[in-house]
Parts: sequence; structure tokens; C-alpha cells
Amino acid sequence: MKTYQPITPEIIEKLKAITGPTYVKTDRDMLLQYQTDYETNPAMFHVPDAAVSPANAQEISEIVKLANEYDFPITVRSGGTSLADGAIPVCGGLVLCMDRLNKILELNEEGMYMTVEAGVRTVDLQNAAKKVGLMYAGDPSSAESSLIGGNLATNAGGLRAVRYGVTRDQVYCLEVVTPTGDIVECGRILKKCSTGYDLEQLIIGSEGTLGIITKVTVKLIPLPPYRFDVLAIYTDPRQALHMVPKLMKAGIDPTSVEYMDNSYVRGCADYCHYKDMPHYDDGIYVIITVETFHEDELDTKMDAVCTICEESGAAEVLEADDRVWNMRRNCQTSVELQSKVFLTDDVVVPVHKIAGTIEKIMDIGKDYPFEVKINAHIGDGNLHIVLCKMDMSDEEWEKNVEEFHQQVYAYAYSVGGRLAGEHGIGAKKLKYMEQFTPKGELKIMKTIKRAMDPKDILNPGKVIDA
Ligand SMILES: Cc1cc2nc3c(=O)[nH]c(=O)nc-3n(C[C@H](O)[C@H](O)[C@H](O)COP(=O)(O)OP(=O)(O)OC[C@H]3O[C@@H](n4cnc5c(N)ncnc54)[C@H](O)[C@@H]3O)c2cc1C
Repeated sequence: MKTYQPITPEIIEKLKAITGPTYVKTDRDMLLQYQTDYETNPAMFHVPDAAVSPANAQEISEIVKLANEYDFPITVRSGGTSLADGAIPVCGGLVLCMDRLNKILELNEEGMYMTVEAGVRTVDLQNAAKKVGLMYAGDPSSAESSLIGGNLATNAGGLRAVRYGVTRDQVYCLEVVTPTGDIVECGRILKKCSTGYDLEQLIIGSEGTLGIITKVTVKLIPLPPYRFDVLAIYTDPRQALHMVPKLMKAGIDPTSVEYMDNSYVRGCADYCHYKDMPHYDDGIYVIITVETFHEDELDTKMDAVCTICEESGAAEVLEADDRVWNMRRNCQTSVELQSKVFLTDDVVVPVHKIAGTIEKIMDIGKDYPFEVKINAHIGDGNLHIVLCKMDMSDEEWEKNVEEFHQQVYAYAYSVGGRLAGEHGIGAKKLKYMEQFTPKGELKIMKTIKRAMDPKDILNPGKVIDA
């Protein structure tokens, strides 16, 4: 990897002149907060040389031009909830925080769109839309702490993707500061467009390697007034998994289809202090949400969902109350109770291959000394595998994780899958990108990165080894 120049006192003075001295941090104790995101393994932590909190795109542009002039790297940080080591400054240099770009600029009810600065919290954007009877459909479980720019940068998925798609499906246009410091608007508020390359879609999901997103206009849709949430509890994972294709073919158009294995059911119930969850000891939970605009349609669809679940062997079919959703939203954090160091994976496969993939991974897991925990956005083919280090030595952990990953990723690619469905590649899966990505695709990605960021200033050590 490239060697960069250190951030000197001269550069610090120039940064202070751009943002004002209050917004430049150099004190090591203060910088420790940026050494990790949601990475739990200290071996991956990295403290930056400095951090800066600019107020707008103009200041960001000046900072990026400075980085090109003095040759230091920049890692953008929004909510710092990355599960792929995306916000860790692996090459040192400068962390650029987005939290001051936090204004909602326009909510247009007639045009059904909202323009916000990139540092607005996802949940604040969702709530602003809800207040006027509209919906922003992006909904990662981290909505309370992630920022919308971070969601765009990772192309976040989440809990409503089955029906409404992922973050990239919610975006009309964005403003971006390029790796050489230009401020560019990509896309427009258009239903359709075939005018040249789709630049906003190129920036979305590029994890801060091709530009810094500073402003975004998202689509809003009418908020469906009716909704039901079903909890189907299975004791045999195969029955739960094989119910999903039937549900997807039934014309029900569910909003969410979520899966928690029994290890998660127990872990999340403990974490949330819920004492009497049904089938605590042996249950596998599948949560299904359906939304409609008409009450009678809701009744018909609810009957159909319950019938499909019962006929596929569910031990119980209940209403999924707030506790169930709270458990689902806390899947990630609940693991902290079990192990200080743990690893979250994010493999995606074609939807019709998800049952076979989960069964295969449970099988692979039997040969390893760690418990393999699985929760999944099962309706969109995306599964999260969590491995807990517990009291394993560092060497044992590294060796087992590596062997496990090789088997799992090889299987995922063999059925047409990919390394990451929604968390991104970050630094965590950089080497697997090199190993598993078809050569032609990798070549195009590297050509784009080198052309847009010739000095490799933005988020080096992430996504691809340029
Ligand atoms: C408890 C928990 C639950 C989660 N649930 C989900 C889920 O349901 N679905 C899902 O998809 N993810 C989920 N995640 C992962 C994470 O929340 C998402 O990846 C989220 O989109 C990251 O947003 P952030 O604001 O925290 O970004 P950060 O973590 O700060 O950054 C993420 C990446 O984007 C880059 N970046 C950030 N902002 C910008 C910007 N403005 N311009 C350019 N690049 C930028 C960073 O450099 C980094 O590479 C979860 C994480 C946790 C901890």
C-alpha cells in the first residue's frame, strides 16, 4: 500500500483556517474515538493523525484539495456504525466527520421528495417524512445512529428492502465532493433519465472511495395506513427456510421477511430482558410484515400469511409485537453480551438459494470451535453470520475464521452470490475482493478508482486495492 506524508503542524494550521480552530482535533485522547467503528477486534483499530468537522461542501472541497497538495489520506466518518471497518482510518491521516452537515433543506410534499445534508440522522429523515403522511423507505436497523450519507455510501439495506428496495432505490440525486475537490451534482429529480452515465449510482455504494457525499435528495412514497406483523415460530430450521419461497410467490408483497435462529432468539431475549418469549429454548423466529392501503386487503393477506406459515410446519403463529421487533433490531448489539470480540458477516445470494445457503453454512459451522449464529433478511437473500471469539487465542481465532470464510465465500460464489449484501467491503473484506471478484469486474473498478482519485486520497485500503 502507498506511503503517505504525515500531517504536519503547517497542515493543521491550514485546516484550522478552513473550518475554524474549534473543529480540528489533534489531541490523541480525543482521536481515540475514531480508531474504530463497530469493529470489536483491537488488532484492526487505527488512530488517525487528526480529525476535522467541516460545515459544508465548500470547506470539504478545500480540505480535499489540501490533501491532494500535501499527500495525506482522508477517511470520511458519518455515524461510525460500519460493520466492515469502513470508517477506520487504516492508513492514518485525517478523519473527516460529517456531523455538522445536519440540516433538512426541503421537504416537498407535492413532488414527494426531501433534500437533506448528508449528516442528517436516518431516523430524523424518516420521522420528518412520517409527519406529513409520507415515508422514506430506507430502514437499516442502525437508523437511530447512522447518518443518511453513510447509508448512501454503503448502499444500506435493512428491514423493508423486500418491498421497497435498498438505499440506492430511494435516491433521486446527490451532491458530491470528488477526490480532487470539485463539487458536483449527480442526477436530477426525474422519474426516468437516459442521459449519459448514471453517476449518482456509481457514487452510491462506493464507501467513500470515489467521493464525499454532501447532500442528497431522496424519494418519498405514500405511507400505507394498514399494517400487520406476524411472528411464525418454527422448531425445525428447514421448515422455516422452505416457507419463504411459498410466501414470496403468493402475491402478498411483504415489506419485511426476517429470520432469527434460536441462538439469536435466546441472546436477544436476554439482552432485552424479556423473560417469557415463546419457544425461548427451541424457537426459530420468522417475522413477516405486510402493509396495505385498504383494510379488506389487509385481512385477506393476513389470512394468506397465517395459512402459509401453518401449512409449512410453524409450531405457533402469533402477532409480532414491539418486543419481537425490538429483539430483531438488537440482533447485532445483543452479541456483545456473549463475546467481547465477534465478527459479523453479510453474504448475499439469489433469493431462491437462501434456504440451501443457510443449511450449508450451518453444516460448515459444525467443523469449527465457535458457535455460528445466523440472522437474515431472508426475503432478500441476505444473511448475517456472526462468529464469537469467546476465550479462543488470537492465533486460533484468525486461523479458524480464515478457513471458515474461505468455505463460506466459495459456496456463496458457486451459487451466484457476493461477499456483501449491505454492509460493504470496507477494509474487512479487501483481500477477499481480490480473491473472489471476477477479473474483468475488478479491472473496471480499479480503472475507475485510479481515474477519479489518481493520488488515492479518499478512503485508501477500502473496497479495492487500487
Ligand atoms: C446495530 C447495527 C445495526 C445495523 N443494521 C444494518 C442494517 O439493517 N442494514 C444495513 O445495511 N446496515 C446495517 N448496519 C451497518 C451500518 O449501520 C450501515 O453500513 C450504515 O449505512 C453506516 O452508516 P454510518 O452513518 O454509520 O456510516 P459510517 O460507519 O460512518 O461509514 C460507513 C462507510 O461509508 C463512508 N462514508 C460515510 N459517510 C460518507 C459520506 N457522506 N460520503 C462518502 N462516504 C461516506 C465511510 O468512509 C465508510 O467507508 C448496522 C450496524 C449496526 C451497528
